[in-house]
Order: sequence, then C-alpha cells, then structure tokens
Amino acid sequence: MSDTQSCPSCPPVMRLPESEDRDWARHAIGILQGDGRRSADTHLVNPVFKGLKGISIYLKDESTHPTGSLKHRLARSLFLYGICNGRIRKGTTLVEASSGSTAVSEAYFAHLLDLPFIAVMPRSTSSQKIEAIERFGGRCHFVESPGEVYHVAQRLAEEAKGYYLDQFTYAERATDWRGNNNIAESIFEQMQAERHPHPAWVVMSAGTGGTSATIGRYIRYRHFPTRLCVVDVEYSAFYDAYCSGDVNVTCERPSRIEGIGRPRVEPSFIPGVIDHMIKIPDAASIAAMHVLSERLFRRVGGSTGTNFFGLCWIAGCMMAAGEEGSLVSLICDSGDRYTSTYYNPDWLRENGIDIEPHRQMIETFLDTGKFDPLILKDTR
Ligand SMILES: *Cc1c(COP(=O)(O)O)cnc(C)c1O
Repeated sequence: MSDTQSCPSCPPVMRLPESEDRDWARHAIGILQGDGRRSADTHLVNPVFKGLKGISIYLKDESTHPTGSLKHRLARSLFLYGICNGRIRKGTTLVEASSGSTAVSEAYFAHLLDLPFIAVMPRSTSSQKIEAIERFGGRCHFVESPGEVYHVAQRLAEEAKGYYLDQFTYAERATDWRGNNNIAESIFEQMQAERHPHPAWVVMSAGTGGTSATIGRYIRYRHFPTRLCVVDVEYSAFYDAYCSGDVNVTCERPSRIEGIGRPRVEPSFIPGVIDHMIKIPDAASIAAMHVLSERLFRRVGGSTGTNFFGLCWIAGCMMAAGEEGSLVSLICDSGDRYTSTYYNPDWLRENGIDIEPHRQMIETFLDTGKFDPLILKDTR
C-alpha cells in the first residue's frame, strides 16, 4: 500500500477527496433540466399564401422561448457542454462574444446558476438586448467592431480565470446532432402528419452556423431527401467561402442584420452539409421581414426576413419547375427587439435602405405566384 500514489490536491492516502465540485455540477444540471421541463416545444406555424400553389410553408417559431430567440437552445447546450466537461464550476466567471441574442440567453442561464457573466458585444447591439442582459445580472463590455469580440472575450476570460463559452467554435458540437430533442428532430417530428412530411428544402440563415450544421447533419443521418439552403446577407464571409472553398475569406463591413452574417468564416459553419447557398441584399431581408410581420399580425426580427426571402426564392424556383412540396424555415426572434432600427423609417433612410421595390415584389409573389427573378441581380 505504501507505494500507492494519490494526486497532490487529494487528502492523504486512505481518505477519498471531497466531492464539492461534483455536488455543484449535479445541482447545476438539475436546474438546466428544470428549465427544459418547464418549456414546451415551439410551434411550427403554417401560414397560407394564396399565390403559392402546391407549396406549403412552415415556420418554426423560436421567438417563444423564455429568452426570446433560438439562442435559448444554444445557450442551454453550451452550459451543459461546459459543465459536463468540468470547465464550468461553482463561481466560474463566464464570458461570451456575441451580437446580442446569445448573450441574452446565456445571461439568463448564468443567473439561474448564480454565476458571473460578461457579454462582449459590438457597440451597435440593440438597446433592448443590452437591457435584457443587464436585467439578468450580466455585464456588457463593448467593442467598436464585430471582429474584435473574439480576442477581447478570450482575454477577459483569462483575466478573470473564467471560461469563454465561445459559441462560434462550440455551437456545432455542443448540440447533439443525432437527436435528443434538437431543433431538426423537432421539425421532422412535427411535420409527420402533413401532406408532404419531408420538406423539399429547409431554409436557414447563418450566425454561428450551428443551426444549419445541426439540420444538415440530421437530414443526412436520418437519410431524408430534404435539402438545406443557407441564406447569407450583404456583409458576411460565409457565401464567398462556400463558393470559393476558401475558409479564410473575411468581410470588413459589419453585418447589418443582427444575429447573422459574420466578418470571418466561423468554425461552427459546416459547408459540407449545405446543398445550396444564396446571398441577398439587406433591403430584401428587411422588406421580407415587414411583409411577413403584416401577414402574421406580429413583428418578426431581421434574420427571419432573410430566411423568409430565401424561402420565397426557393418556392419561386420550385413553382417555375412545376414542383410541389413543403418548405420549412425559422422565426428566429421577435421584431420587438428592433423597433428603433428595422421598423424605424428614419433608421432605414439613414442606412440608405430602400425596401419598397422588394416589398412589392414579395407581396405580388405571395398573392399571385408571379416571381421576378431579376431581384437577385444586385446581390454580390
Ligand atoms: C444566432 C441567430 C441566427 C443564426 O443561428 P446560428 O445557429 O447561430 O447560425 C439567426 N437569427 C438570430 C436572431 C440569431 O440570434
């Protein structure tokens, strides 16, 4: 027995270590499971557009999570990932780089677990999101350009001897892509009783790229015929990287559509599971956001407009080819977060965004099925 070694931080031989850390982790996982148990699945809404003959549209409404966006799922997964890897412990200071929505959801979970939380965000982040983060007890640290968030978050985490949650790296792996109630499994389960239960396409924009990675992998894993289209915005690196195969491309100007479009190709963006990509003008995203908000009688966010325009584009192509089927996309968050920007005519004017031509084109398409494909001529 006397040759047996025990690690230096452990008590003398013949006494086992305390399990304080493990007790906290068990307690923390229990709290996260409680949040899951209190949550119902989000609706898959099926709005009717009379011009879209033979095409059924479904929108997974992620705005109804307790923290208002699809990032509620990601934040829960990132916390589970950090705790189960032994990186998040009692009292660990958590730091995140975010354009806002993720930080809101993470601030909520940090509050549930009584952990300090710092969000590193561009100064342009909407005031509604900043308010929400601070209400949950989080601290906001601002940087001038979105490209700075990564190293500043890393540095703050090191200084606090804390943990950098790093959504842009871990989004794709913190989510269980084979199932376990991920968003893809939920969509396909909810589609089961529909006329076309396997969507022809799922259409999604990319921020971390995590949601499109989960959906693309799940489609392959379950050997569904469904294809995945990712829609990119004006100021973002994803589309060029997808087309050129060069993951080192960058984009200088910051994205104007909050939550999506990135200055670099994020590690969680998995091009291999994407079947098609399009890039659309910001004016088209915001026009589609306005049109969809009117048709749903409630406001949706800018990235939902991007998704919806992409959905219309795919629907137009399918109708032109005489194809029928279902199409699925996401309502990522509510428009209430963007009253001072996308819903403010002064903001649109100051940013030189004229949504009228796009708005008319989308309205006509939804009502008559007539589609003017020239609309994409000024993309890229
Ligand atoms: C994060 C986000 C997206 C994109 O989701 P990813 O899984 O990160 O690619 C879209 N819309 C909003 C509002 C978001 O916050």
